[in-house]
Amino acid sequence: MDRRRLLKIVAGLPFASGLWRGASTLADASPSPARVRPGDPAWPSEESWDQLGREVGGRLIKVRSPLAACVGASSDAACAQVFKELKNPYYLGDEVGLTQSLGWVGAWTSEPSVYAVAAKTTADVVTAINFARKNNLRLVVKGGGHSYQGSSNAADSLLIWTRQMNAVALHDAFVGAGCAGRMEPQPAVSIEPGAIWGHVYNEVTTKGRRYVQGGGCMTVGVAGLILGGGFGSYSKAYGLAAASLIEAEIVTADGEVRIANACSNPDLFWALKGGGGGFGVVTRLTLRTHALPEYFGGVFAVIKATSDDAFRRLIAKIVEFYHDSLFNPHWGEQIAFAPGGVVAISMAVQGLDQQQADAVWRPFFDWTSAAPQDFTIVSAPKIFAGPARIRWDASVLRLIPGVVIADDRQGAPADNIFWAGNLGEAGAVWYAYQSAWLPASLLDADRRQSFADALFAAAKHKGVLLHFNKGLAGAPADAIAAAKDTPMNPAVTDAFALAITGALGEPAYPGVPGHEPDAAAARSEAEAVEQTMDAIRKLLPRVGSYVWETDFFQPNWQDAFWGESYARLRAVKDKYDPAGLFFVHHGVGSESWSADGFTRLN
Ligand SMILES: Cc1cc2nc3c(=O)[nH]c(=O)nc-3n(C[C@H](O)[C@H](O)[C@H](O)COP(=O)(O)OP(=O)(O)OC[C@H]3O[C@@H](n4cnc5c(N)ncnc54)[C@H](O)[C@@H]3O)c2cc1C
Repeated sequence: MDRRRLLKIVAGLPFASGLWRGASTLADASPSPARVRPGDPAWPSEESWDQLGREVGGRLIKVRSPLAACVGASSDAACAQVFKELKNPYYLGDEVGLTQSLGWVGAWTSEPSVYAVAAKTTADVVTAINFARKNNLRLVVKGGGHSYQGSSNAADSLLIWTRQMNAVALHDAFVGAGCAGRMEPQPAVSIEPGAIWGHVYNEVTTKGRRYVQGGGCMTVGVAGLILGGGFGSYSKAYGLAAASLIEAEIVTADGEVRIANACSNPDLFWALKGGGGGFGVVTRLTLRTHALPEYFGGVFAVIKATSDDAFRRLIAKIVEFYHDSLFNPHWGEQIAFAPGGVVAISMAVQGLDQQQADAVWRPFFDWTSAAPQDFTIVSAPKIFAGPARIRWDASVLRLIPGVVIADDRQGAPADNIFWAGNLGEAGAVWYAYQSAWLPASLLDADRRQSFADALFAAAKHKGVLLHFNKGLAGAPADAIAAAKDTPMNPAVTDAFALAITGALGEPAYPGVPGHEPDAAAARSEAEAVEQTMDAIRKLLPRVGSYVWETDFFQPNWQDAFWGESYARLRAVKDKYDPAGLFFVHHGVGSESWSADGFTRLN
C-alpha cells in the first residue's frame, strides 16, 4: 500500500476496543480492562495521588506543558519567549512536559503526561511502577527526551522522568554482580539513566582521560541511546555503544529491582543491548571504558558540482575514495549528497594525527580542485586533528567559533553546550525520517557504479546522508563480534553505512496561532523523502533500519529493526513484562496493542 495513504489511515483509525492483560507479578497475565484515563471511574483519587507523592518524597509533579498557555492565545511576549527557548535542547530536557521533537505531522504530537515522578532513586522508580501497574495506568519513561518516534510522551499517562538520576562514577576494575571469578575486572563507568552523553564524556574523557562509546549528540540520554544499540562518531572503531554494556540495574513490571549482566538474567541483559525500550526502567548502566586514543579530529568541506554529469563523477569518485581510503576504523560520521549537486563532507577521525589525516584526503581534494569548471568549492576543506582529551572540553570548545552553542539560560552550568549542527533538530516538527543499512557489497568494484547511480537518483529529491559510523563493516573483529551478541539486526555488521534522509520544520504546535505545523509542506516533503529512499531501497534485497533513527511508519518494523532476533526478543518481553506495562511505539510486543498503548488487542 502507498505509504502516505497508510499514514492517513493509521492517523484516522479509532482506537480499537478490547482487553488487555493486567499484571501484578511476572506470572500473572490475566485479562483486565483497557487502561484508565482521567475521568474514568477507575482513575486514582486525589488521595491516592497524594499518597504516591508522599511515597516518592514529594517528587510527584502535576505536569503542564509550557505550550499549553500558547494554544489558542494571540501571540504574546511569554509565548514568544517559549518559542525562543524551544531552540535550546537543555531547556527542552529540563521541562517535564516537553520533548526534544515537538511531533511528527500525521504521526504524533508531544503531549504532557498527567503526572510525573521525577525519580531520584531506584526506590522512586519501584514505587511509580507499582502504582501504575496496580491502577492500570498508561506508563511512559523519559530520559533525554530525544525519541523521534514520540515514545517518551503520552497523553493521559503517568511519566517516570529520570532527568535527575544523572550520577557518573568511574571504576578502575569493575566486575559485574555474580561474575567474580568468571569475568575479568575491567575499567568501566557506571551511569544513572538520565545523564546525557555530553556530561558523561566530560567525566570520562575530559576529567578521566578515558573513552566510552556513547552517542554523537551531547544532549541525548544515556539509557535511551543504549537501549537501541547506539552509535557515536567513533563506532567504527569501538562498535555499538550497547556492546560496551557490562551490567544494568533495571526495575521490571513486577516492581523487582534486577541486575542484568552476563551472569544474572542474561536473557534480559541481551535484550537491553539494542532491543529498544519496553523491558522495564533502567536505573543504572555500567559500560566498559577504553584507552583514549591520542588524536581525534575531523574533515569538513562543501563542494558543488556544476552539472549533472559532474555530480555523477563526483559521487562515483567519493564511493571509490571511501572504499580505498576511509573504509577502516579511523573514519566515521557523514557525507551528504543533496539536490543541486551538493556534497557536504563532515567526517570524524580517531587515531590519526594532522599529517596523517591530511595525507589521506589530499588526493581527493586535489582531484576536485583540478577541475574548477566542474566543481565549485563552497566551503574550503578543513582538516584537523588534535589531542583527544579536549574533544568534549567545554572550556576549549566554547573558544572555537561556530562549533558549539551554550545553554543561554541564566545560571546554566558552563558545560551545558551542544553541537551547533544539532540546533536544527531542537524543537523540530518532523515531516519524514527514513533510514536503511547499506551492505558493504555495494562498494565492490562491480556494484559501485549502480550504487553511485542510486545516490545520484536519490539526491534529486532530498539530501541523503551516509552515516559511516552507523554501519560496522570495516570495524575491528572484536567490535563486530560484540555487535553480534546483541539483538540488533545482523544487517548492522554487514553494513558500511546507514543511509538517512528526512525533513523537518521549525518548532510548531497545533492550535498555536502563527506556529501551526505546516501540513502542506509536510506532505510534499514526505513524498520527496519517500522518493529519495526508494532510489536507495531498490538496491537492497531486504531493508534493515536503525530502531532509534527510522520511519515512524516503518513497514515490517520487527524485521527491519531486529531481523532474526525478533522472536527471541518477544520471548524476553513476554517473560519480564507479560502484561505490556511498558508499551512503546514499534517496540517489542507493541503489535499486541492499540496505537496509543491503551488497549490490548490480542
Ligand atoms: C538531535 C538528536 C541526535 C541524535 N544523535 C544520535 C547519535 O549520535 N547516535 C545514535 O545512536 N542516536 C542518536 N539519536 C537517537 C537517540 O539515540 C534516540 O532518540 C534515543 O532513544 C534517545 O534517548 P533519550 O533518553 O534522549 O530519549 P527518550 O525520548 O527519553 O527515550 C527514548 C526511548 O527510551 C526509553 N527510555 C529512556 N530512558 C529509559 C530508561 N531509563 N529505562 C527504560 N526505557 C527508557 C523511552 O521510554 C523511549 O522509548 C539522536 C536523536 C536526536 C533527536
